[in-house]
Amino acid sequence: MKLAQRMSRLGTETAFEVLVRAKALEAQGRDVVHLEIGEPDFDTPANIIEAACKALHSGYTHYGPSAGLPQLREVIAKDVSQSRGIPVNANQVVVTPGGKPIMFYTIMALAESGDEVIYPNPGFPIYESVINFVGAKPVPLRLAEEREFCIDLEELRRKVTKRTKLIIVNSPHNPCGSVLCKEDLQAIAELTVKNDIMVLSDEIYGRTLYEGQFESITQFPGMPERTIILDGFSKTYAMTGWRLGYGVMPEELAGQVAKLMTNSNSCTASFIQVAGIEAITGPQDESYKMVAAFKERRDIIVKGLNQIPGIHCLLPKGAFYVFPNVSEVVKRGKFANTKAFADHLLQEAGVAGLSGTAFGEFGEGYLRLSYANSIPNINKAVQRIADAVAKLK
Ligand code: PLP
Repeated sequence: MKLAQRMSRLGTETAFEVLVRAKALEAQGRDVVHLEIGEPDFDTPANIIEAACKALHSGYTHYGPSAGLPQLREVIAKDVSQSRGIPVNANQVVVTPGGKPIMFYTIMALAESGDEVIYPNPGFPIYESVINFVGAKPVPLRLAEEREFCIDLEELRRKVTKRTKLIIVNSPHNPCGSVLCKEDLQAIAELTVKNDIMVLSDEIYGRTLYEGQFESITQFPGMPERTIILDGFSKTYAMTGWRLGYGVMPEELAGQVAKLMTNSNSCTASFIQVAGIEAITGPQDESYKMVAAFKERRDIIVKGLNQIPGIHCLLPKGAFYVFPNVSEVVKRGKFANTKAFADHLLQEAGVAGLSGTAFGEFGEGYLRLSYANSIPNINKAVQRIADAVAKLK
């Protein structure tokens, strides 16, 4: 078969591959602790499930508008307006099956050959994949541990050229758990206004924050006109398998993204959108309880990892991942690279995690572990990693 050339430029999300390998080991009778996939281990709150069932029985089983049901778009517009302190109207909202398609559609709609897109590295792997896919040039912006995995503004300024079309920011950040402070966001905002650059602000972990208040880049002058907010229900309401997310963007772009929806999905499942209305307008206590539980688990995993000789781990401020530095252990164990160490942990210790390089070249020397798992499982994983490290010569 002769595939289109562009397929060779498409990357992937390693978490799903490791999940398959971990499941295969389990099928052979092995016990594996899953710290690879980024999803809450909680069930979707009952009121949301109930709303979906009711919607199914009341006929929400048909196609709907490509941009989403008007009543959900209204509710999202109000919610985003309140949480970010900016005016938003429903025409700026496009509902999609998960937040991920917003990356695809935004990059597809804005970037092409000759354009440059600056993105965080380590960062969510789909950014780089889609930038390459559309033929634009990916320009990685290193997030270094010395800066607590925040953006080096000087480096960002150096990377901006006349061809820079889009800058991607993600705060709270996957995989590093870092959070951009208001001053950094303001500096990025000023840079993009001055150079007429669009911003994709991936705010999917906006609620999964352990200290302070969530800050969106859209709060600064000139930003609502040039920002696409990516958000959704997967992480906040433990709805990963439902596939429900959205983008908030200038109206002109929303029309184009809706056209991409018409050309691909037609629309997001109607009854799921009705459940989304309940998620936003119904009681929020389950969602806050999840964040409190993640915080407790974060403290346990960070403390446990820091007790292992050769591993050190910063305390993440948001999302539900740790990004421990394991470079010393990789060296001591004479592993070819961090991926080989991550493979070793899965095969020999029954701990499924990801190499930092699954998030880009600057992830070498780090692991990404999701702590959206029970405390007994986290303790088991930490003990297994400690034992595996102790066995290295
Ligand atoms: N953005 C980031 C940074 C993520 O980590 C994820 C999922 O892991 C998404 C977006 C997409 O989430 P979903 O498509 O499940 O809504």
